[in-house]
Amino acid sequence: MTILSDQLHLHPDQLGAHWMPFTANRQFKANPRMIAKAEGMYYWTPDGRKVLDGFSGLWCCNAGHCRKPIVEAIQKQAATLDYSPAFQMAHPLSFELANRIVEIAPPSMKHVFYTNSGSEAVDTALKIALGYQRVKGEASRTRLIGRERGYHGVGFGGISVGGMVANRKMFGAMLAGVDHLPHTHNLAKNAYTKGLPEHGAELADELERLVALHDASTIAAVIVEPMAGSTGVLMPPKGYLKRLREITKKHGILLIFDEVITAFGRMGGAFASQVFDVEPDMITFAKGVTSGTVPMGGVLASKAVHDAFMIGPPGAIEIFHGYTYSAHPLACAAGIATLQLYKDGDLFNRAKQMAPVMESAVHGLKGGKNIIDLRNFGLVGAIELASRPDAPGARAFEVMLKCWEKGVLVRTAGDNIAIAPPLIVEASQIAQIADTLREAIQSTD
Ligand code: PMP
Repeated sequence: MTILSDQLHLHPDQLGAHWMPFTANRQFKANPRMIAKAEGMYYWTPDGRKVLDGFSGLWCCNAGHCRKPIVEAIQKQAATLDYSPAFQMAHPLSFELANRIVEIAPPSMKHVFYTNSGSEAVDTALKIALGYQRVKGEASRTRLIGRERGYHGVGFGGISVGGMVANRKMFGAMLAGVDHLPHTHNLAKNAYTKGLPEHGAELADELERLVALHDASTIAAVIVEPMAGSTGVLMPPKGYLKRLREITKKHGILLIFDEVITAFGRMGGAFASQVFDVEPDMITFAKGVTSGTVPMGGVLASKAVHDAFMIGPPGAIEIFHGYTYSAHPLACAAGIATLQLYKDGDLFNRAKQMAPVMESAVHGLKGGKNIIDLRNFGLVGAIELASRPDAPGARAFEVMLKCWEKGVLVRTAGDNIAIAPPLIVEASQIAQIADTLREAIQSTD
């Protein structure tokens, strides 16, 4: 079935102008993988091939694709108010969405600062942290602490606190005064864990070592992903996040959870902070807030963080930061419709209920060729393959390509293959993802 117009069949000569992100452009353009249409759990290629979305696009389309209420909300908004100035002016939907996000967030999170992406959300949270320490009279607290194998987007703040060498090494100097906690991935102790690993809570104590090294009076904030997604789906060891919270609190250091992936249902609750019962001072979000339909991100800040800025005369701008498209009307309309869909479909609970199905599908792959670990929590799964010494990541990439050919979208992160389907996924579709993966993994060398 050819479902789309000939315009979507591009000649190779037409592929040059678009310099694609995070992609081997020359390899891709020699053999492009195009997506032209989506609905529910599926994508279609321009020539009409149906592909099951096992990755919510890129961790974002949590409500599934082209859902009617979201589509209609965006269409209506585009015809009603296309844009309104982001500074000194506002439109009502921006307040409504912020209220709705706060309603489902951890109790201490009371304010939303809008951005257009996860990277902007991270840089915004880091700037709020630095500004907070200053307005509190602690200007010496300028140091930021991230974690090895962390991914916090691609702004200079994000790559500085992030822990992925590939994203840093080409760009010279990073932000000054950044340090990193060790990552928590430990195959020797935790391989094939179902849910959260038993071992590794003590790695949070490394923060005490950094405090001893730098002194708390120089440290503004710690940022971590509750689950490290882009570096291979690394679940937090039991007790680790709680310990980080205790140590940060003890030393007056802000704790930021980067929930760009984990917010809006992925872990089986609105936010991972709630699922893991640890309240940070700020939460970054993006992706799922609009189910990927219109770019949007943001920072949830506690009342204490927000209120610290509300000093000085009422006419004074409290923070010199923001984006032309902050709280864009189309994104707000999409966000409101998306949150309503999550609520109406009870999708966060659905993710929780489907978690055991995901767990048994993922761990059912045990014993497959080259598999060295299997991990899962909520509606996320990961398969780690033994690295090919001559070409790290190559096996996983090969598996991803084979799955694509067989009609299932998954993604790779180094030697890991990650699965994160929309929250509307059916058990039979999880089984299809696992069966396709099993076959593709079996054919690796
Ligand atoms: N933080 C985390 C935890 C992410 O996973 C991502 C994107 N995958 C980002 C930040 C960056 O988001 P964006 O690509 O929207 O800038």
